[in-house]
Amino acid sequence: SGPSADPVRIVCYSTGMRERALDQLRLEADLERAIAAGELILLYQPEIDLVTGRIIGFEALVRWQHPQRGMIPPSEFIPLAEETGLILPLGDCVLTEACRQLVTWREQASATGRNQENQKTRGQSGCDIDLRVSVNLSARQFSSLGLVERIEQILRQTSLAAGDLRLEVTETSLMSDADTALRTMRDLQNLGVGLHMDDFGVGYSSLHHLHRFPFDTLKIDRSFIGRIAEEKGGAEIVRTILDLARSLRMKVVAEGIETAHQAEQLRTMGCPFGQGYYFARPMTAATVSEMLVPAS
Ligand code: C2E
Ligand code: MG
Ligand code: MG
Ligand code: MG
Repeated sequence: SGPSADPVRIVCYSTGMRERALDQLRLEADLERAIAAGELILLYQPEIDLVTGRIIGFEALVRWQHPQRGMIPPSEFIPLAEETGLILPLGDCVLTEACRQLVTWREQASATGRNQENQKTRGQSGCDIDLRVSVNLSARQFSSLGLVERIEQILRQTSLAAGDLRLEVTETSLMSDADTALRTMRDLQNLGVGLHMDDFGVGYSSLHHLHRFPFDTLKIDRSFIGRIAEEKGGAEIVRTILDLARSLRMKVVAEGIETAHQAEQLRTMGCPFGQGYYFARPMTAATVSEMLVPAS
């Protein structure tokens, strides 16, 4: 570029690029329809207490169940939703559905009175199962006005206690508008909503963000868990993150636990919570219901 920019610009698309661009356009037009049509569904992945093996909650993970393309993962439409602003209605749907689902599971469990032995403790809102739900929020949601009010409204609508909801935020979501993000997080903290720093350790300045924002939990990115046994220093890095969390009085969840060995190593190092394919893949709400309230 510069003052003497080329008068003629030649844009050269390969057929593949053109196809991809068109594909994106179609997907974009389709996403708005899909939200209205209820094609977005949530799967739930259990979070585990590594000492007792109990389920302590679920992370809600969105999927697009497309009538022609099948199941589309969030990596293929969340960025698109962010760009177009559709993330706001999408995010509200996800939040509402996740809160509603947690309340439903509790009602199901108490209605049958046949709660699993290990889920007997009382939840914060006096319900029969002591579970929480975690919801991912993206950058644009976080810098949007009125997020806190909408969350309050959703909690009221679904009769879920604020303490039963956790919001997962990555540090990249905080960087675009850090001042707004900080104010939002303080308000959410005052409400009593849990704040999890997602994908801890892979960003540019995880420590800086950890210090600046009022997170109560950090989720160790799965890349560290994957290297825990392999590379030199893999275990030491995880140990150091655990020490850091302890001295900051933060809770820790290890993401992406895929083997018994990783689970055992983390438990031995004193990591309290974990999630990953080793324990369970993300599953439908119906599967979770059956697990919590086994049919007689
Ligand atoms: P995340 O929040 O870090 O979620 C964890 C991702 O790791 C999920 O991928 C989960 O299925 C996957 N995972 C869990 N256990 C294992 C394991 O043992 N091994 C491996 N390899 N992967 C595991 P998923 O569902 O494809 O979601 C990807 C990302 O999309 C999420 O990362 C989150 O950042 C975003 N996302 C998902 N749902 C939502 C949503 O409702 N709203 C927003 N804004 N973002 C979402
Ligand atoms: Mg997450
Ligand atoms: Mg993560
Ligand atoms: Mg991630």
